[in-house]
Amino acid sequence: MRTQTQEQEWTAPAGAPQAQHPSRAPAEDATRAAGEIRLRGTMRIGPEGHLWIGGCDTVDLARRFGTPLFVYDEALIRAQIRAFHEAFRETGLAYEIAYAAKAFCTVAMCQLAAEEGLAVDAVSGGELLTALRAGVEPRRIHLHGNNKSQAELELAVRSGIGYIIVDNFVELEMLDAVARDAGVTVDVLLRVAPGVEAHTHEYISTGQQDSKFGFDWENGQAREAIRRLGAHLGLRCIGLHSHIGSQIFDAAGFVTAIERVTELYAEGVALGLPFRVLNVGGGFGIRYTAEDDPEPIRRQIHTIADAVRSAFSASGLPLPEVAVEPGRSIVGEAGTTLYTVGTHKVIPGVRNYVSVDGGMTDNPRLALYGARYEAALANRVNEAPDGVWAVAGKCCESGDMLIWDASLPDPRPGDVLAVFCTGAYNYSMASHYNRNPNPAVVFVRDGEATVVVERETWEDLLRLDRPLRRG
Ligand SMILES: *Cc1c(COP(=O)(O)O)cnc(C)c1O
Repeated sequence: MRTQTQEQEWTAPAGAPQAQHPSRAPAEDATRAAGEIRLRGTMRIGPEGHLWIGGCDTVDLARRFGTPLFVYDEALIRAQIRAFHEAFRETGLAYEIAYAAKAFCTVAMCQLAAEEGLAVDAVSGGELLTALRAGVEPRRIHLHGNNKSQAELELAVRSGIGYIIVDNFVELEMLDAVARDAGVTVDVLLRVAPGVEAHTHEYISTGQQDSKFGFDWENGQAREAIRRLGAHLGLRCIGLHSHIGSQIFDAAGFVTAIERVTELYAEGVALGLPFRVLNVGGGFGIRYTAEDDPEPIRRQIHTIADAVRSAFSASGLPLPEVAVEPGRSIVGEAGTTLYTVGTHKVIPGVRNYVSVDGGMTDNPRLALYGARYEAALANRVNEAPDGVWAVAGKCCESGDMLIWDASLPDPRPGDVLAVFCTGAYNYSMASHYNRNPNPAVVFVRDGEATVVVERETWEDLLRLDRPLRRG
């Protein structure tokens, strides 16, 4: 029998929906063996040895809705959001939390984000339209991007969104023209590239000038942009933005960025710009595997708040509204992908491959970044692993792998494989390679499963095709 390890770092704030915890086994990190299952949120193991999420048997979900299937634990998403709110409330600062929709952008998710008091960050016309259709208040939508099109800027201005994060000098001119044409003044933040880049537990504060995003801090472009803003009558710059990376494990990189951006903020205020927002971006890390050990959200938010207070008081500035833009940390751990096991190939002394009915089309992150995941057989969760399996997708590409080293009981055709922590940057990065349709997405909560995105059909894939005309 496998041991069940409960997520230790995740602390639900007061008032958050409580996970239905199974009886806890002792869960010292040191005793975690390969094959143990980290039960996140409302996950539990049912009496028949099936994995349950949100009060639903995942084996049942796979049967009802087909596979591959994205299953989101709604209570866990809400709890993650509430943890951010709670941390900010403790700091006493004015704040806004914007969900970075690119992590997982659907109407239902934007609705949920708005219900939980989040603003929504869009980075394209498509994401912007999704947030609008979801009924997100336009004032609570922000638009990002290093190459926003004229049409995207026009949609944003016409819709009256809260602010646009201006990324470069070309956009500054374009947006000013769009605003004047529309006869409005548009609120903007300037995106500063602060020369700090953070990934996981490392951050590098030199040599990161080389980025396509934002006005450079070090070479004076950001300062120049602030100076030029006075001449753009269509734009009202209400603050500054920086974003230092993703899957950040501790807040040290934020502190350096805040110190640098605060210098510019002080210059803008001295020039009479109506600054009131300091947006420090997203990137809060999550626990994909047992090796990942991010600082709790609460501690990172407190570090950020302390850095803002001390930088602003050192500059004699009134405190700003602090904005953050989490994506991955809101939805990543709440998502689980269910696949049906198909064929396998055992190469003695080399590797055991098992193939599932999805792959890089619904999860390109191993192919893109060498990302690591953990998995279990959802219909046989209590069985001890027999070996290490390389989990392959069904695409015509050797790099189409989901996991290189999953400890599993010998997988049999028809088993349901659950890959954990797939809620961020999977569905949103899905492709149609090999003309595979995109999976369905269900939200589960209190025993109810709601389809929030339908599965595509083969016919859907042909919807935009037109025959070749001859003669
Ligand atoms: C991607 C991105 C985010 C969200 O990053 P996560 O790692 O998903 O939290 C936030 N802000 C900006 C500007 C981004 O590009």
